[in-house]
Amino acid sequence: MTFPHKKSHGFTLALILLLTACSTQQAQLHQQQFLLFGTLVDISIWGTDKQQAQQAIAQISTDLENMHNEWHAWHDSPLTRLNKMLASGQSATVPPSMVPLVQKSMALSDASDGLFNPAMGKLVKLWGFQQDDLPESTPPDDAEINATTALQPKMQNLTLTHNQLQSHNTNVQLDFGAIAKGYAVDLAIDKLRALGIHNAIVNAGGNLRVIGKHGDRPWRIGIRHPRAPGILASIEAHDDESILTSGDYERFFEYKGKRYHHILDPRTGYPANGFTSVTVIYHDAATADAASTALFVAGPQRWREIAKKMGIQYIMIMDDKGQVTMTPAMAERIHFESNPTPHMTISTLP
Ligand code: ADP
Ligand code: MG
Repeated sequence: MTFPHKKSHGFTLALILLLTACSTQQAQLHQQQFLLFGTLVDISIWGTDKQQAQQAIAQISTDLENMHNEWHAWHDSPLTRLNKMLASGQSATVPPSMVPLVQKSMALSDASDGLFNPAMGKLVKLWGFQQDDLPESTPPDDAEINATTALQPKMQNLTLTHNQLQSHNTNVQLDFGAIAKGYAVDLAIDKLRALGIHNAIVNAGGNLRVIGKHGDRPWRIGIRHPRAPGILASIEAHDDESILTSGDYERFFEYKGKRYHHILDPRTGYPANGFTSVTVIYHDAATADAASTALFVAGPQRWREIAKKMGIQYIMIMDDKGQVTMTPAMAERIHFESNPTPHMTISTLP
């Protein structure tokens, strides 16, 4: 899994805007940021006393740090050890915390027709997107890309029996970069609830889940503009909803005037074409994370079909011409904040 290092934290901060907090309300808002998962994690808690909020945030940051260490796909970690076993054709024991992540990833990869494919860690590594800091880079050779893609690692190559995992393709290398942040956000929300906190946002670099409200009004979330500083649109989040965006601006390099970004198309081996950002709203953040990546890969031809298969109704897409397409359900909830408002189309799912 890669944990992108954000270049500008101030910019990331703008992702979640408490757009209209007034000063008396702010007394009840506890907000804290810390760097983890190579990204800025932002926790907002409403309506508890300061001590309860601080204790909860401390516990969550410890939990997230443990997840980061366990699921890291490139540094020495339980996941890299698991990958070594799979590569040698042996059956491997999956650590308990990783079993649900593997199960969800298998199901979501199936539902996305393999466009969300966390088995293709080798391809991610070939492109260099696993590195903490992207160097000035050139794309790999076409021949190498084709050869790595032809290995066809898939989640369907895996058999999970209880906690024993076996791969029928030794080229499978797990990289949970497109789902782990969402799943970690889900676990953090579970923990907050267990601690008696019912009004909060957990936001890991624009991957967020909301519970409850901000006082007497809903939490309001800003969606980053993929090509301009600031906010493209805002959404009022309902209780227990996740809002996730996959974009080509998170990790990329430019070579000969062309952008090469970190969301790879398993069919071609190259960065997915057509879109610059895909935002989805769904109940849980793990599903929303995998789905935003899958829809990004699906591109203009297939996103509607894949959304239908994955059961996602709220979708907003910006394409590489700066035009926005939304599902009717999303159109009812979006408020554009950018000026000028982008050209917009509403598209019904099949
Ligand atoms: P972000 O991590 O910026 O939120 P994503 O959720 O889309 O973005 O995840 C992108 C990461 O997931 C990449 O850095 C890589 O590790 C991995 N990845 C890239 N393409 C795919 C894909 N098609 N399916 C699954 N994982 C992918
Ligand atoms: Mg994702």
